[in-house]
Amino acid sequence: MIQEVEKEPKVALCRNCRGTGKVAVKKLLRKTTEICPQCNGSGRVTVSCKMTLDIRPYNPKVVQSANE
Ligand SMILES: [Zn+2]
Repeated sequence: MIQEVEKEPKVALCRNCRGTGKVAVKKLLRKTTEICPQCNGSGRVTVSCKMTLDIRPYNPKVVQSANE
């Protein structure tokens, strides 16, 4: 059976700006800082994940019993 597992969103440090909320960008040979697009300047993001598990019964037809 297919089972869907969804993890609740967790607050994590933004890796794009390392928690600073700003990223360095080069514009016309000048270095400026812009608001990080990933965390929108907050320095933190929420991370959630979704998994799909495919669970099937294990049926050892070919394996013979070792207790004989
Ligand atoms: Zn960020």
